[in-house]
Amino acid sequence: MNPMPWLLSAALLSHPAAAELSVTPGTGGQLVIRGRLALPEQELDGRLVLAGDRIVCAGADCAEPADATVLQVNDGLILPGFIDAHNHVAYNALPKWAPPKRYQNRAQWQRAAAYKAFKRPYDQLKRSGLSCEMVKYGEAKALLSGVTTIQGSPAGRCLQGLVRNAENPQSGLPVSSAHVRTFILDVGGAPKIDWNATDAFLIHVAEGVDAAALAEFATLKSKGLLTAGTAIIHGTAFGDEEFRQMGAVGSKLIWSPQSNLALYGQTTRVDLALRHGVPVSLGVDWNPTGSDNLFDELRVADRVNREQFAGAIAEQDWLAMITRHPSQALALDSYIGALRAGLKADIVILSGARASVGQTLLNARLRDVAAVLVDGRLLYGDRDAMTAAGRADCDALTVDGAPKLLCMRTPGVPKGGQRLDEVRAALLKVYPGVAPLAAP
Ligand SMILES: [Zn+2]
Repeated sequence: MNPMPWLLSAALLSHPAAAELSVTPGTGGQLVIRGRLALPEQELDGRLVLAGDRIVCAGADCAEPADATVLQVNDGLILPGFIDAHNHVAYNALPKWAPPKRYQNRAQWQRAAAYKAFKRPYDQLKRSGLSCEMVKYGEAKALLSGVTTIQGSPAGRCLQGLVRNAENPQSGLPVSSAHVRTFILDVGGAPKIDWNATDAFLIHVAEGVDAAALAEFATLKSKGLLTAGTAIIHGTAFGDEEFRQMGAVGSKLIWSPQSNLALYGQTTRVDLALRHGVPVSLGVDWNPTGSDNLFDELRVADRVNREQFAGAIAEQDWLAMITRHPSQALALDSYIGALRAGLKADIVILSGARASVGQTLLNARLRDVAAVLVDGRLLYGDRDAMTAAGRADCDALTVDGAPKLLCMRTPGVPKGGQRLDEVRAALLKVYPGVAPLAAP
């Protein structure tokens, strides 16, 4: 195993970095990130000390190994990697879909001729053997907004190494393939869950606004699947009573407001969920009807919060909704979701910190994502800083007007030699309408 996983070659470490993020190369096997930290209980100026794929110290008093490589963050914020709690990653190669009308429940649009026509390129890409490329492209898109773990990708060895796939046995986490189970079809067909093997069960329930959507809650309960280990995706048709019952057993909610608004004209009553103590996570759902990235999704949620929920979501909740809450909904909080010693070194560095973490997130743009580390590996960030850290040999791209580098290649896994440009070219050859990685 490479003792310095974030470095490709010490010989490359001579370039000056951007002012927000400066890199001082060291010769040892450890990495130190200095600056403003978003710790679980507070924000403070301090440092993270990493060793391989782990955080070994997080705080103001961490001792720095003498020969560590140092990332100095000026005027920015160091956060735990974001977790997109709900997505259909392979679909993110598809562009936006403008539904021709508002629907009452999910079955309606899935049956509609307009949707079937829209989805045709997805089937075509899959039939062309490009499943790995589709998911990797979706992961790259997520990485641009600091996502280090994503829910909603299939299993596949070719997916090892970029963003963590929550349900995938190749997620890089020491959990079995049964640890997180997801069911996206009608709840009537939901599987029996072996709770000895499964700690998190994610299921689409009540995606819609009519009685048929609401009736899924009764079906869920009749199957014995309303439990503390259950995370309900959507719950758009729920009212106070359903959230009361969820709160009583400790179920979780996963919310995708933009996609709900696009398809149904309204979204989940998160204010009621919070009243009953239901932890809420945020997810983009998918590119066709969801937001372009997690920051945009946060802003949609913020707008709904102000216009419809009378500000029920507090400012400190925004970070929890994309880190701690999803790590708990996925039962992965022993490994990810916070800047804490012992957890995986999944880290996001944002430029331009505001008065609070919540304000920083709500104002963040894609250009502000200065660096993203997964498992202690620097996979994406500002071109100068990446180059200074020895990661020049990655894909150059311009995101939101800013020069970036993205490292897709993962040696030793099937299709792991592919660069981002090759993945994109393979998709475009079959389907010229592939969505851009970031909205122009
Ligand atoms: Zn979904």
